[in-house]
Amino acid sequence: MAEKLKACRNCRALVPLEEEKCPVCGGTSFTKFWRGMVIVVDPSESEVARIMGIKYPGKYAIAIAR
Ligand SMILES: [Zn+2]
Repeated sequence: MAEKLKACRNCRALVPLEEEKCPVCGGTSFTKFWRGMVIVVDPSESEVARIMGIKYPGKYAIAIAR
């Protein structure tokens, strides 16, 4: 993975390591141990976003570790 990202434990949004707060849900708990990335451009048109419960455009981890 070329990008240095961490995943929000609450909503699985991927944010830069230096970010202190999740821009999607406002959560402050992150993990560096995540796998798979899905990029959502238009949540209302995306089946993946609907299944994953994603409401905002962005990058999300498919799976996160504890
Ligand atoms: Zn979040």
